[in-house]
Amino acid sequence: MKAVVLHEHGGIDRLRYQDYPDPSPGVGEVLVRVRVCGMNHLDLLTREGRVATRVPLPHIMGSEVAGDVVAVGPEVRGLDPGMAVAVATRLACGRCEYCRRGEDNICLTSRAIGLEVHGGYAELMAAPAVNCVPLPAGVSYRQSAAFTLAGLTAWHMLVTRARARAGEDVLVIAAGSGVGSAAIQIAKLLGCRVIATAGSEEKLRLAKELGADCVINHREQAFDEEVRRFTDKRGVDVVVEHVGAATWDRSVKALGKNGRLVTCGAHTGLQAPVEIWRLFTRQISLIGSYLGTRGELTEVLRLIGQGRLHPVIHALLPLAEAREPYSQISRTCSRMSRPSW
Ligand SMILES: [Zn+2]
Repeated sequence: MKAVVLHEHGGIDRLRYQDYPDPSPGVGEVLVRVRVCGMNHLDLLTREGRVATRVPLPHIMGSEVAGDVVAVGPEVRGLDPGMAVAVATRLACGRCEYCRRGEDNICLTSRAIGLEVHGGYAELMAAPAVNCVPLPAGVSYRQSAAFTLAGLTAWHMLVTRARARAGEDVLVIAAGSGVGSAAIQIAKLLGCRVIATAGSEEKLRLAKELGADCVINHREQAFDEEVRRFTDKRGVDVVVEHVGAATWDRSVKALGKNGRLVTCGAHTGLQAPVEIWRLFTRQISLIGSYLGTRGELTEVLRLIGQGRLHPVIHALLPLAEAREPYSQISRTCSRMSRPSW
């Protein structure tokens, strides 16, 4: 098969489009012909070696896979060649305390497709059958791949962790990102009022198109102050945070009483101070959130099929041009949305 292979960590020149041995499905696994693989921030960190785990090299990145089952290994039931599937990113053990509770996203011994095992920057990929969720009618490969990790993460943050409810105000930080663009839509679907921040007019326009009721250019305005103005000094009920140190303080200050800040990332820095007085006098909750479960992936895909969630796709590129989105990111230091191929 053809694959884009990472031979050593570093710049985009370390990604090589080449022939690579076909994988074969083991016990309980299927062979998937990758039709579309989303590009995620995780890929960038993996390529540069800025991840906490050891990446076995040479490595095939790509965590958001949609494709067709082309062969099944021994002991696979319910999946047949020809079925279109989304591949859940996290390989869970199925036996630990958390897996038994259905919280496979926080499995004690899990590994990630595209990080610790080969992912979808290839024509073929072997994956456990239990990770493959059949694509509902009306969901394209590209829609699935654009939502499998970032969209699912946003769902888990808002629905499961922060428990956002109809009528609440939700602030979404960085609306132009994969998590941000999904979070706006999910919050609107839940019946919330949405305030979104972004750093360019183009991204603010996208946020409006996705349903944001109020948008704030965080480069020009102090977004916590704008939030107070928009909410008549009350503050928001939920902040969807994934930027980290650069926005943390203002994100906390944008919360109203009983406010919940839910976070899934910290690309701008892992350390941020917490004003304990504010935390207890305003009954603020700081909530961590990590990926999403396979059950939630099924829910999210169904909503895409119903036309109620719309994955944002920047570009669709052939596998051979997998380096291209990275060069765009290095030019702009951010991205409008999530390229896929
Ligand atoms: Zn487990």
